[in-house]
Amino acid sequence: MTQPFDGHALSPETTAFLARDMRLLIDGERVEGCAFHETRDPATGLVIARFHIGGKAQIDSAVAAARRAFEGPWSRMAAAERTAILQRLARIMEANATLLTELDIIDNGMPRFIAGLTTANCVEMVDYYAGAILRIEGTTTTPPRHVSAEADALTYTLREPVGVVGQIVPWNVPLSTAILKLAPALAAGCTVVIKPSEETPLSLLALADMFSEAGFPAGVVNIVNGFGADAGQTLAEHPDVDKISFTGSTATGRRIVTAALGNLKKVSLELGGKSPVIVMPDADLALAVPGVAMATFFLQGQNCMAGTRIFAHEAIHDALMEGLTQFAAGMTMGHGLNPATMQGPLISEAHCAKVMGHIEAAKAAGARLVTGGEKLARAGNFVQPTIFTDCAPDMAIMREEIFGPVMAVQKVSTTDIDELARLANDTPYGLSGSVWTRDMAFAHRLVKRVRSGQVSINCHGAVGTNIPFGGYGQSGWGREFGQEGLDAYLETKAVTARL
Ligand code: NDP
Repeated sequence: MTQPFDGHALSPETTAFLARDMRLLIDGERVEGCAFHETRDPATGLVIARFHIGGKAQIDSAVAAARRAFEGPWSRMAAAERTAILQRLARIMEANATLLTELDIIDNGMPRFIAGLTTANCVEMVDYYAGAILRIEGTTTTPPRHVSAEADALTYTLREPVGVVGQIVPWNVPLSTAILKLAPALAAGCTVVIKPSEETPLSLLALADMFSEAGFPAGVVNIVNGFGADAGQTLAEHPDVDKISFTGSTATGRRIVTAALGNLKKVSLELGGKSPVIVMPDADLALAVPGVAMATFFLQGQNCMAGTRIFAHEAIHDALMEGLTQFAAGMTMGHGLNPATMQGPLISEAHCAKVMGHIEAAKAAGARLVTGGEKLARAGNFVQPTIFTDCAPDMAIMREEIFGPVMAVQKVSTTDIDELARLANDTPYGLSGSVWTRDMAFAHRLVKRVRSGQVSINCHGAVGTNIPFGGYGQSGWGREFGQEGLDAYLETKAVTARL
């Protein structure tokens, strides 16, 4: 019989947290929802917690609370005070790092080495945006001709918070995708209603307590779990929400845009990808083998930056495949709580079935299975790290975001930069990508031609707190992280004074 958490122990704080009544956070209070939903450990399939979910009524009251907090204390608070509150949140998160890390492991299935890293990154991000508050700056500029012709005049700009923000986040990196929206929005002076994914509510529910402990006034952050089609849609359509920020699938991103039309709210979208990985004949295989493997297999491939379209030059293809096969076969699969685990489960049975469907379709289409391709015969949603080669550009495996541990390799014979760029850009997406070569001049020239928001050389998915991140094409609108992530929550007001 399957044991809870595959027999791995949880810390006392996580055990105590799981025994709690998991309520929504609205207007500083932990309130009941309109129904309950269960979350499961994807490594065992066992239920780990039951939590409240909200619908239209809860979204309406959360938006009203956020509006009151915006008109009231938060947007008017002295910058230094807002900084201090965010800094306190960072310290509280740091003190609760074990709880936050374990909750993302058991709710999402991610291995411990990833959850530990993302929790640390979240603390860093809150600190970064706490500091950025004191660097929110306008400019002075030349007054308009018709005013300055008649009198002395002064023109300057103010950066002001956008207002009440709705944030809808997915399940693949639950704490991170939430914090990278919450921290800049709060730093800008916005108030927030955030809807986590129903698959992974736990780390955000734990964070709910930390907001009041840090000193955020009631209503500044509201957390409403609920289904996408109900709570999510209501939030995206809401006439009193000034901006919606969404991370998830491109299909749902389109629905968000349509829902936002009513009051023409501002929209930021971080969507899917099918990122290219180009491996040249002179690539350093000691770097490229683990780097290319993890470009696909990091987070079981449930990663918007995943590099899953590999263009391997024919001169290096066989050696690369040999190395990748060995790497994939050596990845320890298991529960994320086991420190040895490199590859955890997929998020749900339904998602696992979708990924297996892609694998079967790739076989039927004539791609050559090199390794993996099986669902493990055990509890949980484990799919082996899988590599196909001899892929053709029109195969679904080369075109669709699979969001699973499935790599598609196409052998190429060219070293022509234009031709390689054409292959890399043959996708509606444009989120990430990488080039593997020792020839830096070649690499920088190729990188300039790749239409993508992030391209790395001899590494992949080089995301960082201060580094802008977002998509070209159908991978999204706008940028998160860094200064641009803060700008996304600020309006610019131009003021001219006749003196
Ligand atoms: P979705 O894009 O459907 O879900 C992401 C978030 O949006 C969830 O909180 C979801 O709520 C919510 N949502 C769903 N429908 C609506 C709606 N009509 N209005 C407002 N909010 C909504 O992703 P899925 O979880 O369904 O995953 C499907 C595919 O999306 C994956 O296989 C992958 O390809 C891609 N994906 C990409 C991500 C990325 O980072 N780019 C992240 C996650 C998924 P609920 O949980 O209740 O559905």
